[in-house]
Amino acid sequence: MRLWIKDPLAILAPDTERGIIVEGSRIVECVPRGGAPAAPWEATFDASRHVVLPGLINAHHHFYQTLTRAHPAGFGRELIPWLMAMERIWERMTPEALRIAVRMALVELLLSGCTTAADHHNLFPKGLERAIDIEVEEAKKLGMRMTATRGSMGISEKDGGLQPDSIVQDSDAILEDSERVLKAFHDPSRGAMIRVALAPCSPLAVPQRVMTESARLAERYDARLHCHLCQSPDEDAYAMQTFGKRSVDLLEEAGWLASRTWVAHGVHFNDDEIVRLGRAGLGVAHCAASDMAFGVGICPTREFEAAGGAIGLGVDGSASNDSSNMMEAARHSLMLQRLRYGHAASSAYDALRWATEGSALCLGRDDVGRIAPGLEADLALYRLDEPRFSGAQDLIAALVLCGTHRADRVMVAGRWLVIEGAPEGIDLGALVAKHKAAAKAFA
Ligand SMILES: [Zn+2]
Repeated sequence: MRLWIKDPLAILAPDTERGIIVEGSRIVECVPRGGAPAAPWEATFDASRHVVLPGLINAHHHFYQTLTRAHPAGFGRELIPWLMAMERIWERMTPEALRIAVRMALVELLLSGCTTAADHHNLFPKGLERAIDIEVEEAKKLGMRMTATRGSMGISEKDGGLQPDSIVQDSDAILEDSERVLKAFHDPSRGAMIRVALAPCSPLAVPQRVMTESARLAERYDARLHCHLCQSPDEDAYAMQTFGKRSVDLLEEAGWLASRTWVAHGVHFNDDEIVRLGRAGLGVAHCAASDMAFGVGICPTREFEAAGGAIGLGVDGSASNDSSNMMEAARHSLMLQRLRYGHAASSAYDALRWATEGSALCLGRDDVGRIAPGLEADLALYRLDEPRFSGAQDLIAALVLCGTHRADRVMVAGRWLVIEGAPEGIDLGALVAKHKAAAKAFA
């Protein structure tokens, strides 16, 4: 069936003023000003009250943390002490709790206009060995696109590391499960709904063998590599003290300086590292909210893009953000980048580019992140009825500058998953009640 999404109020795509034609899971035609579809269509959606964006893409998150938002155990702590305090709480995670946390995070992202989400799951206490399976099941059930990243932590307190013994796994268990989930779920094909990436928490959190073997596996299965990198100034001090090297050098030695790698945060690179990472074509998921929350610094997006790297956006975990809203992430990133580079350096359009095309590059996808014929029909439609938009002149920039929070309609792979601000087939009240009840175990 050909669906004409007709005459949008505004649309983030060139020569598409009269809207787009969706057929199956794809965009098949962009209709320019004064034009009409080239072939007959069977259905029309009147978009005259909507601003249409490509679906937003979240490049970094920790879904399980939705159960520990605004947690007092984390108040007043810097990043590493915060992490150590919170891990004592997260070690209680069960399959049932993870399932409801994942469902909540996905729905929350979807309602903000997100159509593809990456989740960095690195928590594997006893009993939660099948965490990635749960994530994949929930994304499939909802119909969202996901890159599930099989995270890992392998150096615990008993080995002189920072993580509690209860949440780490040994290298064999990590690598065996990495290959298992690649085989079971990873779909490298165009239009894929589920992909798997391998994602040791950071080069400092696992033995080097896990880093090198992960790189080999990723190459063998045509999958991507992900980790946290250079988030805080303490990280390289710890790396030098423990490994006698900087994090980027550890990454390079493990074979990770390749375009299949994207990292989260990327705040504290030196000039030489930016050149090396950019030349290799790495991506950085800029996580503005959590970088601000921990006061770690500001990602050097300008230098990184100039060096050839890609910048995408991540909301980061809900215990640091503490929400999962991709439009908020776009606004935060714009404001934070202006604090670093000034008002003229980046626009609302840059923030939207990072949230769409940039994140798609991070996830290694050229089939989503833009509105163009041949790309997947992943769309976010916003209405500008609230007082905060009244008087706005540039209606696309207004989404970021006036601060929209919620999409009115969201389409993934040609299917409407949000209609009139409500997720299709999900009882939101019941979901919130169930999620709140599950969160009680993490007080
Ligand atoms: Zn993170």
